Amino acid sequence: MQLRPAHYTRALFLALTVFAASLSAQTHAQRSTLDIYVIDVEGGNAVLFVTPADESVLIDSGRDGVISASRIVAAAKDAGLSQIDHAITTHYDGDHYEGLAGVAAQIPIKDYIDHGPSAQPNPRAEQFLQETYPALYNRAKHTIVKAGDKIPLAGVDWRIVAAAENMIKVPVPGGGIPNPYCSSFAPPSDAPTSTVEDPQSVASFIAFGKFRTVHFGDLTQKAEFELMCPKNPIGTVDVLLGLHHGQMSSNSIVAIHALRPRVAIMNNGPMKGGEPEVMKTIHSSPGLEDLWEMHFSALSGQEYTVPGMFIANLLDDQQPTMPIAPKPAPPRGPNRPPDPLHNGAAYWIKVSAQRNGTFTVTNSRNGFTKTYENEK
Ligand SMILES: [Zn+2]
Repeated sequence: MQLRPAHYTRALFLALTVFAASLSAQTHAQRSTLDIYVIDVEGGNAVLFVTPADESVLIDSGRDGVISASRIVAAAKDAGLSQIDHAITTHYDGDHYEGLAGVAAQIPIKDYIDHGPSAQPNPRAEQFLQETYPALYNRAKHTIVKAGDKIPLAGVDWRIVAAAENMIKVPVPGGGIPNPYCSSFAPPSDAPTSTVEDPQSVASFIAFGKFRTVHFGDLTQKAEFELMCPKNPIGTVDVLLGLHHGQMSSNSIVAIHALRPRVAIMNNGPMKGGEPEVMKTIHSSPGLEDLWEMHFSALSGQEYTVPGMFIANLLDDQQPTMPIAPKPAPPRGPNRPPDPLHNGAAYWIKVSAQRNGTFTVTNSRNGFTKTYENEK
């Protein structure tokens, strides 16, 4: 029998479907790593964790609903997820929760985690907390966490180390060590470059075998000091995530230098974070091998930036050369201008961590990848 074009198409479609199904079954069966997607939400925060048991935790859902949601869902699809098991909203600033309803509309979220009531009501957060958010968690589970709580995951130790300005009292395994940076450090007060919600952030410590990482949400320098001093309850980490978009109101030496990350991945935007003072703190951190960034930052200029292969996203308005001088950071606070976003394709930085502590970081824009062998 001769196949007509329609038959060809159907046969091809069937073959592809079977192939795709077997491929995804294969990748599921074979996942042995803890995979972490640091997603571009334009100077907001969204980080998706996928465990070897295919359990998933999303830390924040970015800003500006639609853009963030589609980028988060793309990462979830790449990971082969059919649901998100836990969605932590670190705090109620728009760059951390605005994508949540959009994500939930496309992929079921089973458990919504946060620090409890907002410390800084404003009209947008109010609407989210009274209407949008309850409509989501009433169909699922709602968990208010406190410092010391664990998120139940098979094979991954996930501990909340701070929430609602309360810090863990009992160190995590490997923590409870002296912090030599505390005695000479005077924490600045929080205002005016941070929001009242920043220090309320839900902060997490995550261990997978020998691999260790933290995400502190937007904890301010004052909150970092309260968490990390006089003793360091966390110990050291392989990867430091978040960094409050690389802004100066966070990222003190009592946190970064004491945690001694081998790799830091900054969720900055093109005009948000990456200022010289922060870059100096990171680059002088003992044991740091590389800083990876979500975006080229005009605030770093050429003087303080990292090589482009470590940066996931470009600017819409590409200049032939990056100016050497850093631009001054725009003023922050409630009346700040909106952070610019780029319109082209968005890329993530992916970490794949092995149980033995070795991990690989990949820049999805240029395919650059680097493996950090465990030396412990
Ligand atoms: Zn933020």
